[in-house]
Amino acid sequence: MKPFVYSGLPYRVVFGVGSLAGLPAELDRLGAKRALLLSTPEQADTVKQVAASLGARAAGVYDRAVMHVPIEVAQEARRLASELGADCCVTVGGGSTTGLGKAIALVSPLPIVAVPTTYAGSEMTTIYGITEGGEKKTGRDARVLPKCAIYDPALTLSLPAAASAASGMNAIAHSVEALYAQDANPIISLMAEEGIRALAASLPRIVSDVKNLEARSEALYGAWLCGVALGSAGMALHHKLCHVLGGSFNLPHAETHSIVLPHAMRYNHDAAPEAMRRVARALGASDAPGAIYDLEARLGIPMRLAEIGMREADLERAARLAAGAPYPNPRKVEYAPLLALLRDAWHGNRPAPASS
Ligand code: NAD
Repeated sequence: MKPFVYSGLPYRVVFGVGSLAGLPAELDRLGAKRALLLSTPEQADTVKQVAASLGARAAGVYDRAVMHVPIEVAQEARRLASELGADCCVTVGGGSTTGLGKAIALVSPLPIVAVPTTYAGSEMTTIYGITEGGEKKTGRDARVLPKCAIYDPALTLSLPAAASAASGMNAIAHSVEALYAQDANPIISLMAEEGIRALAASLPRIVSDVKNLEARSEALYGAWLCGVALGSAGMALHHKLCHVLGGSFNLPHAETHSIVLPHAMRYNHDAAPEAMRRVARALGASDAPGAIYDLEARLGIPMRLAEIGMREADLERAARLAAGAPYPNPRKVEYAPLLALLRDAWHGNRPAPASS
């Protein structure tokens, strides 16, 4: 066995259908009396209901969170937190809303209680991102890790089928890369494999019945594990490509991840045999990249970069950007094979069967 270092993050998880009712008790544990609640405009009604359930503990609501945390939005929310004398942030939503809470926690001592409603996993990481002048700057800081995450599957019932599927595949991508990360370790690998298994088993059931609470519970459980994987192990080629495609070509986050994943896996297949064996086992298949591709096809989500706004003429620039500043990766990152990978993802080709 390879030597490893394992360092657990100090988060608390409250999981289960109806667990949102435990939010007041979680605020009490933190000694918080004036919560600022955050959401996107699309989830304003939900966050207002949550605020109403908190009574006087809710100091205010800010419902203008948007994707990638523009600095102007972060500053407005920070100002509101300070004007209200808030002593805690409650984020109700996906990665965009959690990200806004993190932007507040980065410059103030406010603890975050995260109530995730997608499978993005940001609530389990110390990673934050803020967009300024069109450029998203990301970093890691222990202050932004939520003190508690309340995972209530009932809140995910309203996430549409296509968004659920793409978000779930985004979560699976976190675990796949954690399995072959430079700093992989056996505990996180256990969680990563189980997270992939739980999501792969539940997503097809959700797509055929979005209100299936049992499948929703299994998916959210898997998303938690994948979030831990993202927060605990470094990321590699797949995440680099998605950061380039999202950051420089403005492609949508979850869909980009799901389209690129099987191709990034094929690229790394021979250099990360143990990780691929574990992904294949989680999917009950023999060829991991092909099985991920087939799962996505079953989910009916976009399979081609061409479908989500990538221009063929930009593939060379994307390959150059990704090859120019690669993240650590099991296989050497080189321009020509990277361009071939991106062409496959652009066309939506099924990854060729493994050579070994
Ligand atoms: P999102 O938070 O942008 O949500 C997408 C849309 O779905 C929003 O309109 C939202 O209101 C809506 N929505 C969310 N949950 C819903 C529900 N249950 N029912 C109905 N509508 C719902 O999407 P996301 O994919 O969760 O997050 C993407 C963002 O998170 C990106 O900016 C990404 O970079 C970031 N992210 C950060 C980390 C991290 O560790 N820092 C991890 C993952 C993602």
